[in-house]
Amino acid sequence: MTEETKDYIEYTLETDSELRFEIEDKDAKVQVMLFSGFAEMFGTELVKKKKYNFGCGAKVAIFTYQGCVLHLWGKTDVSYISKETPMVQYLNCHAALEQLRTQAEEKDERGPIAMVVGPTDVGKSTLCRILLNYAVRLGRRPLYADTDVGQGALSIPGTIGTILVERPASIEDGLSMTAPLVYHFGYKTPSGNNTLYKAVVSKMAEVTLESMNVNKKTKHSGIIINTCGWVKGDGYAILAHTAQAFEVNAVFVLDQERLYNELLRDMPSFVRVVLLSKSGGVVERSKEQRAEARDQRIKEYFYGSKTPFYPFSFEVKFQDLKLYKIGAPPLPDSCMPIGMKAEDNKTKLVAVTPSSSLLHHILAVSFAESNEDDVIGTNVAGFVCVTDVDMERQAITILSPQPRPLPNTLLLLSDLQFMDSHA
Ligand code: ATP
Repeated sequence: MTEETKDYIEYTLETDSELRFEIEDKDAKVQVMLFSGFAEMFGTELVKKKKYNFGCGAKVAIFTYQGCVLHLWGKTDVSYISKETPMVQYLNCHAALEQLRTQAEEKDERGPIAMVVGPTDVGKSTLCRILLNYAVRLGRRPLYADTDVGQGALSIPGTIGTILVERPASIEDGLSMTAPLVYHFGYKTPSGNNTLYKAVVSKMAEVTLESMNVNKKTKHSGIIINTCGWVKGDGYAILAHTAQAFEVNAVFVLDQERLYNELLRDMPSFVRVVLLSKSGGVVERSKEQRAEARDQRIKEYFYGSKTPFYPFSFEVKFQDLKLYKIGAPPLPDSCMPIGMKAEDNKTKLVAVTPSSSLLHHILAVSFAESNEDDVIGTNVAGFVCVTDVDMERQAITILSPQPRPLPNTLLLLSDLQFMDSHA
């Protein structure tokens, strides 16, 4: 009797182990199915017998607490089972947060506000996703504040934002991004303008804390905060600032004892600081890969990913642009008007005269209508990209998710650029 040839690979996972795989081939199509047992991906449960699709760029871990059998179709670049995972530690963090949520519920207080910190490529975003998923699986409705401007995962790079998490992240598409509250910063790292970054974080923290009061469920569920991987010097000062602005009461430090000890020393005593291991599965990214991921994120903003979007392209006359940037070139204190410090310049709104240097730049469409408004503290409606500058006709062409006309609000120049290869 000939044995039936299988077109998939079968993986049998023991308790507390995970199947990790990566896909690098542009045309690769990989499918995974939970055949038996229980399994989850970054905190989202897999439905039995359902095939999940993964494409190029996927870096995945499917974990099981109880043991399971997985079937995998297609070509992966790396795939192996690991029994060394920090998932039980992460589950304990969730349990601790859950205890705080129950207490918050009993006393009708704010639930836990937890910040995840660590250097680059330690799995900060992944831990946030796991903690959020575990919370919603228990019926919680936490807020997710992402202050990592480099990835801009809730919107586009150069921004920070908050969303309300109401359901577990989709296995294939990640967290649902409905109605994020987004703030413009304009650089891919906080070092682009530290002072401005802190000001924007403070504003977002204030609004996020206020929005906890909108309903009891969210108030008791708390906030999970993701941060940038810049943890030394000014980067550390920024983390401390973020912790203070959000009034955090727990900090999860991934993989770095030095950072853990600094935070233990500097955080007020009511803040629990916990050191956690990094998963061996977290994939490191080179500078080029990060740049590519940023570009991809912006492309998805305009053109969609699985569901395609059809952006608009239209001309706007220079005279119709209310274009500004935040931060004037630094002047020494001695040159500043009396009563102002050089630092103040960094959060100053400066009118921008349109020129060819705008080409490819992202412009944030602010909700602020006038330069008299608190522009830094106002969230943004969306983004457009400058695809052409015609100095003769005194007009720019923009790529926009919305048809013309542009809303009659301020546009804020971002340092980030996007080359529209579709145009
Ligand atoms: P950054 O420094 O850019 O902020 P980070 O610390 O937030 O990165 P993540 O984005 O969470 O790190 O993880 C980096 C990549 O590793 C992601 O693509 C994620 O899917 C993958 N990854 C995380 N955990 C695992 C794991 N256990 N096995 C395989 N891949 C993983």
